[in-house]
Amino acid sequence: MQSDLCLVWIYPDLLSTYGDQGNVLVLEHRARARGIPARTIHVRSSDPVPQQGHIYLIGGGEDRPQILATERLRRDGGLHAAVANGAVVFAVCAGYQLIGRVYAGDEGQPVEGVGLLDISSGRGQRRAVGELAAEPDPALGLPTLTGFENHMGVTTLGPGVRPLARTVAGVGNGDGTEGCYAGRVVGTYMHGPALARNPALADLLLSWVVGALPPMDDTWYERLRQERLAAVLSK
Ligand code: GLN
Repeated sequence: MQSDLCLVWIYPDLLSTYGDQGNVLVLEHRARARGIPARTIHVRSSDPVPQQGHIYLIGGGEDRPQILATERLRRDGGLHAAVANGAVVFAVCAGYQLIGRVYAGDEGQPVEGVGLLDISSGRGQRRAVGELAAEPDPALGLPTLTGFENHMGVTTLGPGVRPLARTVAGVGNGDGTEGCYAGRVVGTYMHGPALARNPALADLLLSWVVGALPPMDDTWYERLRQERLAAVLSK
């Protein structure tokens, strides 16, 4: 195991809706609980993106900040370099759309994305708001995913990515799938925050950097999961 885990929280000044910063706290906590020192670099949109981080997190946001963040990330190039170095990326909603090839901007106009995932997003007929539950790709070895979604975007997956999960409640990508991944780059529509509701997913991201992790006491995470899944699956 390596000694020090470096998390990078990208653009908290532009992208951090619906508690997405909680994903950073969950990763820090679950690393430290296993004796792995973790530190987080908060990268504001006026700062350069460091290239030596291990896990990069991007949250959701409104349409205009999403476009600004995209422009800055494209110009900066640090995130591309980090991914080329093998870094993990976990991107939520606006963050998910903007690391793809193209998405719909505030007027529906196509906006060129950062290009880390082979996905294209457009505008759906109506806003998807509410609880999301999805059965993950069996290859990932995860239990049912739970989250909250609030987005206009619908996302089409290209051949370069695999769906993260199959939607059982809610909208997700809009075609029966939810999120996607390619290598160590993961995108999802799940807020909530996603990693507090899905600690096994948090551990999967951590394990890609530090290797297999011992179990920890997940009583409270599990209560939250059961409460949220019961609320949506009993409808
Ligand atoms: N602006 C994007 C959409 O509405 C993302 C919204 C979000 O991050 N919650 O699709």
